[in-house]
Amino acid sequence: MTELLTFRDAATQLSLSLRSVRRLVRLGRLQAEPTGRHPNGKITYGIARAAVEGLALGDSRLALTAAPARGPAPDMVPLTHDGIPDVAAMRALGLASHASEWDRRMRIVAEYADRQLHAAHGGKRAAAHLVAAKYGESVSTIYRWWKDLRDGGPAALLPAWRVSEGGTVLPADLQCQVREFYLNSRRATVAQVYSHVVLPYYKDISQDPPHRSTVARFVRKHILPLEKVFWREGRRAYEADAAPKVVRALPTEPNDWWCADHRLWDLMVIVPDGRGAGWGKHEKTACPCGSGRERRHCCSVRRPWLSMIVDIASAAFVGYRLGLVPTASGVCHALRSAILRAGIPKHFYRDNGREFSARRLGGRADRLLKPLRTDLDGRQQWPCALPPDVEQCGVWTALDVELVTALPYHPWSKPIESIFHAFSGQWENLVPGWTGRDAKKKPEILDTQIRDGMLLFLPEFEAVFDEQLQRWHTDHVCGDRGKPPAAFYEDFQPRTIDPATLNFLLQDERPRVHVEQTGVNLQSAGVQMRFWSDELSIYVGCVVTVRWDPEESGCIWVYTPDKRVLAVPRARDAQWGEWGDANLASKRGARLQREYLRARAVEMHGATPLARLDPIGAVATIHQREADVAAAEMQRSVADDRVRELVACQQLAVEAAASAQPRKRTTIYDEGLADIA
Ligand SMILES: [Zn+2]
Repeated sequence: MTELLTFRDAATQLSLSLRSVRRLVRLGRLQAEPTGRHPNGKITYGIARAAVEGLALGDSRLALTAAPARGPAPDMVPLTHDGIPDVAAMRALGLASHASEWDRRMRIVAEYADRQLHAAHGGKRAAAHLVAAKYGESVSTIYRWWKDLRDGGPAALLPAWRVSEGGTVLPADLQCQVREFYLNSRRATVAQVYSHVVLPYYKDISQDPPHRSTVARFVRKHILPLEKVFWREGRRAYEADAAPKVVRALPTEPNDWWCADHRLWDLMVIVPDGRGAGWGKHEKTACPCGSGRERRHCCSVRRPWLSMIVDIASAAFVGYRLGLVPTASGVCHALRSAILRAGIPKHFYRDNGREFSARRLGGRADRLLKPLRTDLDGRQQWPCALPPDVEQCGVWTALDVELVTALPYHPWSKPIESIFHAFSGQWENLVPGWTGRDAKKKPEILDTQIRDGMLLFLPEFEAVFDEQLQRWHTDHVCGDRGKPPAAFYEDFQPRTIDPATLNFLLQDERPRVHVEQTGVNLQSAGVQMRFWSDELSIYVGCVVTVRWDPEESGCIWVYTPDKRVLAVPRARDAQWGEWGDANLASKRGARLQREYLRARAVEMHGATPLARLDPIGAVATIHQREADVAAAEMQRSVADDRVRELVACQQLAVEAAASAQPRKRTTIYDEGLADIA
């Protein structure tokens, strides 16, 4: 029976590292034979002493060729006569760091030996833990060094030296190849790098390749995250994850900076739009709205949009609008309600979206379409405004607000995101119909909820949203702000504006609206709405300008041709067989019309000379004839003088009255007024 050495003994015999011995076994230059079983069940192997000695004799250069990555083999370590590494000599050889590491290890192990010697029963483990913690090593490292010291003496604690600590054995040209293969958008794996670049490289130079873990370590430690993100994941990921960012100090005053943005909610709601979209495979069951129709012919499932305006200092949602599409008018009305509620901001920071560039909101600055280098230069961080002169416009000038526009394609410059996520993250996922952050994280229950119609209707969601917003404003302290949003506004005196002016600046405008006998008829999102007020009756038939908020359509503002502004409420329909408000309103309107007509009649009556009013003379002829007929009749019927005198007196009185009031006279043009009066 041949004597079997352990791998460690073989390594000592051959002056090689344990790893090199394993490699020789793998390459077949040493034959491993089973020696038994380890308690953990694995077969242990040994190497025949004869084979080891044969190999050592056969190749004296083995130590150097088998471990090319190493410095001088351990047998070249300068030792003193009693077998201890000669620290001074090592320093002279340029191995100073190894010498001090050996010194450190010796001191650690000495301390451990001392402690465990004096430890009570069962205290050896505690001693190891104590020493390990004190020197920042693991307990197993302490045990290993202790064993090395006992087995191999002080020289065994010399650190194995590699090319340099933290270095790599990969040659420089291979490093470049690995980088080139690894750092691009194909996002190659380490295994691919190893099989397509490293293995062929070593095959070409007929050398043994390093282990795959060496390549993995190179990729992990020598390629910076910056490079990985930029080359492998692209520019957007770089901007999101690696580009330097500033930390902005929060404004301290509320209404200093307002930001506007849109968000698509990660949430499904039911919208009664009659289109029946979004139900997927559950479109044939009855609609949850109770109409009795199939879903595909009834309500839709949609994700609502939120247009919001946030005050950065307080994290208050000063204005918002929930809807099904992001629109300019949504932003305008969110802004309008924000200003009415919270006052006028100093700065308004808007997104680049089309909806924020509506003409009412200042339009799109020309240079924003294609920013020049000078626009971008030095403005990589927020506030990344373009020069203010580009963005002068009506509403902002009128309100004395500085408008700041986010740079295009710089999504991280939006400070509103974090506030929105802090808000929605508190409760969004607790609402039925939550879709998860993205398609991958879609909750499984969502499909069941859609199937069972367990979703909120849009108005119900608005109520939920509103309640959560109240809680946010009164209870939640966002980030480092120190107090909840509402507290910021408690003692704050905002700049305000007359609501009528604001309406003029921000509401939807409908030019050239015809006032009909039924009132002003407007249509929004397929819904017909009618508006009526008593004053409006006078302008029936007029073409007027209307400003309104289609989503808060209780009232519209009518700009009449004679420069009046009327607030006109929604009209009510009359009911069959009833005499109600609608009838009363129309009666009041008619009375106003008549009063107006009468007033105008008094003004104009007799203003025009009779000859000009009756240029043809036909009316005068008829009057003359009537007068003649009357005179003839009178002559006939009144025979006696007494009556004649009386008539003469009457005529005198009439003439006197006519001379006192020369404008007063009767023509056929006055008859219409008598009819309506
Ligand atoms: Zn329905």
